[in-house]
Parts: sequence; structure tokens; C-alpha cells
Amino acid sequence: MTGGRRSVEEHVEHVAALLASLRTRPAVRVPLARALNRVLAEPIYAPIDLPAFRNSQMDGYAVDAAAVATVPVTLPVRGVLAAGDGNSVHEAGTARKIMTGAPIPDGADAVVPVEDTDSSVDGGTATVTVHRSVGAGTYVRERGSDIAAGAELLPAGQLIAARHIAALAAVGVTAVPVRALPQVAVISTGSELVVGGTDLGPGKIFNSNGPALAASALANGADVVSVDHSDDDAEEFAAKIAHAASVAEVVFTSGGVSQGDFEVVKDVLGPRGGEFVSVAMQPGGPQGTAIVDGVPVLAFPGNPVSALVSFEMFARPLLRAAAGLPPIDPVMLPLTADLTSVAGKRQFFRGRRDGDGVTVVSGPGSHLIAGMSGADVLLDVAADTTSLRAGDLVKALPL
Ligand code: AMP
Ligand code: MG
Repeated sequence: MTGGRRSVEEHVEHVAALLASLRTRPAVRVPLARALNRVLAEPIYAPIDLPAFRNSQMDGYAVDAAAVATVPVTLPVRGVLAAGDGNSVHEAGTARKIMTGAPIPDGADAVVPVEDTDSSVDGGTATVTVHRSVGAGTYVRERGSDIAAGAELLPAGQLIAARHIAALAAVGVTAVPVRALPQVAVISTGSELVVGGTDLGPGKIFNSNGPALAASALANGADVVSVDHSDDDAEEFAAKIAHAASVAEVVFTSGGVSQGDFEVVKDVLGPRGGEFVSVAMQPGGPQGTAIVDGVPVLAFPGNPVSALVSFEMFARPLLRAAAGLPPIDPVMLPLTADLTSVAGKRQFFRGRRDGDGVTVVSGPGSHLIAGMSGADVLLDVAADTTSLRAGDLVKALPL
């Protein structure tokens, strides 16, 4: 189908159906060092008690509380326990010097901090005088008091941050099952495009959609497996889309979908069952979808703001859901100034949070990508709204 008209909601639904296969993610095991920012596919149960053994919370003296019930009291010292030492046995009425993390001797039940003692060595006999009583359990970290072996440490769906890595490492977990990342390929089209770092020839522009769509995919939990560019040449594009479909689960293209003479994406994918439609939104009106060798393709328009707005509206929610990341919900913010919007199209303005409100930061042109870089929200103005006043609440989609 070519030339159809759709509402944004209809196209969202259409794309969701096309990308339905992304929703069932297999689990893959990754080493802990690669687990940051991944999403757990299964709950993790503690394989051991944490702490794994009773140990001292202080540098001090391991005692039995009964021996220090009346103070001051002087006790013989039976050696020193360092962190990393093995088990030992306590003799009632004695003390053992103990370091933080060292195992509490069997039979001892409290630690007197070194600050509450004086030690002396008299004729080869070491003693410690305790100035303050401690109850049983004082400064003892009991085995399993943080988490018991078998208890759930982290739930399925947990987005792994540094603190989760800490907990996993602490119980000796070295690899975790995480959701496989959706594999994305990006193809930008346009014979005018050159890659940054080279000189711009006459009529040429630097390719910004390729890097932008790749970064957008990465930022939303995807693995970008291919980033390519095609001139407006049907044969070249056909070869590149076939390659992209062979390595990715979803392909995003930019450019070549509107009403010009050189619409390579539409020309190649249209005859192969692709649908090229006009969505009632601005920017981002011309949109295409196709399936190439079983792989869904979202064909976004080439204007840089249109390409990014298209990604945010149609691809971001689905990629995040596939990756197990939480949705990014719109918020209602008051406008700092009046706003007018064209009738009949849902318009997306580039806005920036400004105190408690939001300010439009760029003109309406969909080529204004430097302007968009100053935005942190898209203002989503309904098709039938033509004007809003300063102070009116507007729907703002965080970028
Ligand atoms: P198109 O949708 O191919 O007609 O492109 C619309 C406008 O976006 C034109 O001004 C293109 O030069 C520009 N454009 C297309 N692709 C890119 C890209 N990858 N990076 C920057 N600008 C682009
Ligand atoms: Mg083009």
C-alpha cells in the first residue's frame, strides 16, 4: 500500500504488530563484568549465606559477654585473629584480639571495640582490661543476617546497576541470565550524505541520522549490529537492506520515503509489499514499513528531527519493552509561553524543562537538529489543538 493516511495511534499499532516478534526475548548468560545495564531474565537466589560465617564488625577483642558483665575486668589474651583466618575455639573468661571481618571464635559471643580496652604484656603474658560491658551479639555479624542461602537476592526484570553487581559478586555469582538484546541495524540513505571527518563537497551534508538512530537504539537497550549507508541507488540499497536483514531482528532506515523523484527506500520496498503512508503528525509525516526476508523494517523520513521523532514515537517503546526496560511516560508540564499548532496534525515541539515549566527551544523546521540538541522533551500537541496559552498543561515526552 502506498499513499495511505494514518493517525499516529494507528501507525503505533501497526508497528507494534510488525515488531511483535521482538517481545519474546530468550535469556543469555553473561559474565558479571558484562552485566551492567542488562535486565535479569530470571530471579537470582543467594547460593550462600551472607555473611557466610559469624565475623567481627570491629577491631577489638572477642569475648563471652558473661566475662565482661562487670567492668573493669582484666582477661588473658589468647592470640590474634585477622581477616582471612580460619575457625578457632574460645575459652570462657579469656579474650582474643580480633580484626574486622575475622571469624568469631566458637563460644565467643561479643566483641569489645579496641577503644574500650587497654592492653598490656606482663612477663610474656598478654592481658586486656575491658572498661565497658557488651551484651551477647554486640559487634557480631551473624551468618546469613544479610541474606540467607536460598532467599531471592534479585527479581527477574531487575535492571542491573552497580549495587546489584556488588550483591551478586558478594554471594559468589560470576555470570547471570539476562534478556538477549534486540539486534538492530541502521541504514541511512541519500546520495548527498558524507560521513563526518571528511570535507563537505558542494551540495553534500554530513550524515547525522545514521549515528543518531544507532545511538537511540543503544540508549534504549538494543544491540546495534550494523550501521550502513546507501546512495539513492536501488541496487545498492537492495543489497544493503538484504544484508541488514540477515544480521538484525529489526532494521531502521532513514530517508527516501516521501514524494520526491529519488525515494530509494520506497522504490525498492514498495514493490516488495512495503507500506508507505502519511501519518498525521509533524514532524515525521511520511513513514514506511516493510518485511524483508522475515525481518521488520521501519523506514523513517530523512529530515534529522523527523527521523528522531519517528524513533521516539514508533521504535523506542517497543525496543524498551523488548529489552525489559521500563517505559518512558509523558509528564504534564505548564507552558512558559503561548504556543500555536497546525490543525489536523499531532505536532511535536522540541521543549526544555525550565524551572517547573517547559519552553519551546527550537523552530518548527524538521532540519533544525542543532536546535533539537537543546531540548530534553518533545511537546506532544493533539491534532485538534491549535493554540495553548502560557500556563496551560502540555504533554511532554522525556527524550
Ligand atoms: P529525504 O527524506 O531522503 O527526502 O530527506 C529529507 C531531508 O533530510 C533532506 O534535506 C536530506 O538531505 C536530509 N537527510 C536525509 N538523510 C539524512 C541523514 N542521514 N543525515 C542528515 N540529513 C539527512
Ligand atoms: Mg533522500
